[in-house]
This record gives sequence, C-alpha cells and structure tokens, in this order.
Amino acid sequence: MRKKIIAGNWKMNKTPREAIELINEIKAEVAGASCDVVVCPTFVCLSASAEALKGTNIKLGAQNVHFEKSGAYTGEIAADMLEAIGVEYVIIGHSERRQYFGETDETVNKRTIAALAGSLIPIVCVGEVLGEREAGVTREVVCSQTKLAFRGISADDAKKVVIAYEPVWAIGTGKTATSAQADEVCKIIRDTIKELYGAETAEEIRIQYGGSMNAANAAELLAQPNIDGGLIGGASLKAADFGVIVRHA
Ligand code: 13P
Repeated sequence: MRKKIIAGNWKMNKTPREAIELINEIKAEVAGASCDVVVCPTFVCLSASAEALKGTNIKLGAQNVHFEKSGAYTGEIAADMLEAIGVEYVIIGHSERRQYFGETDETVNKRTIAALAGSLIPIVCVGEVLGEREAGVTREVVCSQTKLAFRGISADDAKKVVIAYEPVWAIGTGKTATSAQADEVCKIIRDTIKELYGAETAEEIRIQYGGSMNAANAAELLAQPNIDGGLIGGASLKAADFGVIVRHA
C-alpha cells in the first residue's frame, strides 16, 4: 500500500519571515496527518524553514537542484548543500522551469541522478501542454518524459522517486483535469515504470497529481487508484486549504 504524499510548491512566494508564519499555521492544520507532508519554499527560506519545522511531521523540499557537486556554476545550488541544511525532497523539472528556464529532459535526468546521489528524494514533474493534449499525444509526451527522466537510474533508486503528473494547461488556471483524466495519465506513467523496472517498482512508486488541486476537488482526485498524492501550488499558500487537502489524503 503506497503512502500518500502531499507537497506544497510555494514557487516564488514568501520571505523567510512569511515562510515561518505560514509554517506555523500549517503545523496546526496537518498535525496527526496519515500521509507524508512536504513544503517547498524558495532557497532563501530553506534554513529558516528547517528550523521552524523541527519536531513537526512536515518535511522540507527545495524547488530545484544543480547536477554538479560543486564548482564554477554561479547561482546554482548542489544536492549536498541542501541535504546539509535539512532538505529531504526536491522538485525537479517543473513545467515552469521547462518553459522559462531552459530545463530539458536531459537536465531533468541529470538533476534526478544528482539528487539521489545526495540522498534527496526527487519529485520529478512530467506533463503535457494544451496543444499536445488537443493533438492527442499526451501518452507519447508523458511516456517519453518519464523514460528520459529515469535514464541510467537503478530499480532501487527508482522506487524512491516521486513522480508528479502536472498537465501544464491545469497549472494556475483553475482548470483541473477531471479525476478520470488525471488517473488515466497517472496509470500511463505507472505502466511506463513497469515497462522500465517491472511490476514491483511500478506498484511501489508514488505518483502525484498537480494542477489547480484545491480543498474542493482534492477528495475526488485523491480517491483515484493511481493518484498517490498532490503537488499543490496556489492552495498550498493557504494553511486552511492545504490542511483540508492533507486530511483528504
Ligand atoms: P497550482 O496548484 O497553483 O495550479 O500549481 C500547481 C503546480 O504547479 C504545483 O507544482
């Protein structure tokens, strides 16, 4: 039985002081949760957040990681550095990074390998854009993104990875995929993992849905057989809404 995982992707929001305030509100909302709970603030908020999360059931995630261990890579942050300050998860290949910052399937793969080597749990994002859905190539797109993200990764490591299926047309738009649409694509991703690593890994790996998940639609999405959690944007910035989502998981 896969343990559900709800992660808040705070994107480029909150100062360190505001992050601590939000964490203090979230703490009360999610105490006693039966699922894994993760918050992913910006890099500059991570240290203060790690401190604020001590003694809670909430884990800390970053929103990106560089694939080299150290060196002349101005502006970048390595897995060991994140691990050293208490980060346990890292979002990789979010569609906003693919869209605005030149992220490719190849760099997603390199970051995933680096995260695993640095003992971080990668949350690897895949998902089709609207044009791809309308052209009927969603299956091809997510299969290809998944296969390329896992290139060179062992079955033992693959099991640790969390995959987030985020249809790009549903992010920040208020347009949620229907629970059937979301489950169908999560199943396609699970079948792709089965093809790569076999049935056992496919049964163990956790696949989240992300894209306008909120307090009102979470219950139905999280009840689907192939959806093992959510990667939440906007609603993760409101403690009460995030709390409702966590309690549905
Ligand atoms: P929204 O929940 O704001 O649509 O964002 C989803 C997302 O991109 C999470 O990574």
